[in-house]
This record gives sequence, C-alpha cells and structure tokens, in this order.
Amino acid sequence: MTPAELGEFLAPHGFSAVEARRIFAHHVQHARRHWDIKNMARQKLARAQSLLDTPTLEVVDRRRDPADGFMKYLFALADGARIEAVRIPIFDDKYTLCLSSQAGCPLDCVFCATGRLGFKRNLSTWEIVEQLRIVRDEADRPVRGVVFMGMGEPFLNYDAVIRAARIFADPSGGAISGRAITISTSGVVPAIRRFTDERHPYRLAISLTGATRARRRSLMPAAEKTWPIEELIDAVREHAAVTRELVTLEYVIIKDVNCGPDDARALCELLQGIPVRINLIDVNDASGQFVPPSDAERRAFFDMLQPLGAPIVRRYSGGKDVNAACGMLAATAS
Ligand code: SF4
Repeated sequence: MTPAELGEFLAPHGFSAVEARRIFAHHVQHARRHWDIKNMARQKLARAQSLLDTPTLEVVDRRRDPADGFMKYLFALADGARIEAVRIPIFDDKYTLCLSSQAGCPLDCVFCATGRLGFKRNLSTWEIVEQLRIVRDEADRPVRGVVFMGMGEPFLNYDAVIRAARIFADPSGGAISGRAITISTSGVVPAIRRFTDERHPYRLAISLTGATRARRRSLMPAAEKTWPIEELIDAVREHAAVTRELVTLEYVIIKDVNCGPDDARALCELLQGIPVRINLIDVNDASGQFVPPSDAERRAFFDMLQPLGAPIVRRYSGGKDVNAACGMLAATAS
C-alpha cells in the first residue's frame, strides 16, 4: 500500500491519516520490526499490527566484492523463487540500490544471465519495496537512489513497479528523490508511451544495444520482434519532446559484435536530432561467450559517435567478482 492507501484502509478502524502515515514511516522508512511509536497507545498499535500483513523476504546470501565494495543480496521468495539486488557505493557517502522487478525474465537478451534463467513471475509491490527496506536497514550509509536494472523487465510489471517507485519517493517511505529513481526498459513501447503520458518524476533509461533491426534482433530477439526499433525510437523521441529531457540510452558493447564502424554510423543515423545521453557498458558474461572490447576498440567506437553531439559516458558496472555486474544476475549464491 502507499501511505494514502494505508490511511484509507485504517480509517474505518479509528486511525487518523496522521497516525496511518506514522505507522507507514515506522515500518517502511525506519524498517522497524517491532512497532513502538511515541505517543501512540500500545493497544492501538497492536490493533494496527493485527490488521496488517507485513511479510518479508529471506536473505539467503550477501556477497561483497572487495575490489569495489559492490554488495550482492540473494533473496528467497515464499514460493521458492529467488531474486537478487545489488547495493552500489556512490563515492564514500551513500548507496544506490539496483533491484529486481521480476523473478527471472521473459525476454531473452543473449548477453544476459537473467534472460537465460527464463521467467518465473512478476514481483508484487511489497517484494520490490522489501528489497530496499532490508538493504537499507543494514547499510552503514544512506540509500539515496534506486535503479530498476536488476532481474526482469520492469515495464512488463508496470503497475507494481510504478507503485513501488511512488513508495520509494514518498517522504514517509523511501524518501528518495524522484529524480534519483531510474526505470530501465529493454524497449516495451506501449509502457514507454504510458509512462510518458503519466508524467512521472522518475528517470527513464532504454537498453538499446543494437542500432539496426538485424543487430538488435541478434542480441535482444524477443524485444526486437515485439517492439521493432523504429517504434522504439519514435517512443523515445516522444518522451524527449514531452519531458524536454535527455533520454538515457544504454548500449552494452561487445567485442566484434556491435561496436564497429557500421554500428557507430547506424547509431548516429538512428539518433540524429533526438536529445539523448549514451551510456556505454562493457558486456559482462560469466559464460565467456561475449567479451568486452579492448580499450583501443572502445575509444575508437566512442570517437566514431562524436558526430551525434550527445553526452557519452562509459558506465562502470561493478561487482564482477561476485557476479553482481550488469547482465550477471542469475539468482545463485556465487
Ligand atoms: S537484459 Fe533485462 S530485459 Fe534482457 S533478459 Fe536481461 S533482465 Fe531481461
């Protein structure tokens, strides 16, 4: 429930809107297991607890990469499915949390360990929120950002994801700025259009990874078959026009696959005139099938994209030693 929904739920039981909000903050923002709220009668609190179901996730494993401090969490769900989240250190003073929206994923991006798992189910809102609650409760610094870039395609679980984002952004919930919440999609065009129409404060990121139909089909076959690249780019253009913001495009670079001169030319043509920011991410493939380009190859690709005039950054994807980097989440304790 959002705080407003909790207020509506508790009102017939004699709770004011302020009391409902305090209960919400106590549970979600402060992650208290035992409810003890100042100036609220114990009897009343016990009544609230008897009315509300507050399940949690089991933490099966935590692994910290000593090289960069990225920490991977493995959670067990009540039905036996498993999901992962990654706590990402930002400088020395805060964390961002990369979390999952589905158990497994119905898409089959060939470079992604989650895609190879297949799809189990959508997560419910509380299962998404609980990832933040648990990680934040044991963190030594505040969690100031959330990225929906873990397991699953967030826009195939749209309602639960948007509801979770609302809770994250609520001052009584995650208290995270809407601008620090990013939803990353592989290109679910109808959901991108809906997201644009609904004017949410959260950031949108699109995983592109191929600039032509053929290239994208070879790397993200299900996404390209269902939402062809031309439709996707139209939706990106609309989003940029309505929000007047740069849209972040993520491009996973793979040696000898999608970072040659033809790819750079096609990408420049495709994105001509659209205000975008490009994140280049080295592929991380524990199976060894795909490897990242060398520094020289990456630099050459970067240079060939300069005619676009768009900001281009190489995004660091950490936690490789504990299989926590982009594309490596496979819900295993390793
Ligand atoms: S990259 Fe994202 S959308 Fe593609 S298979 Fe992996 S989790 Fe699913």
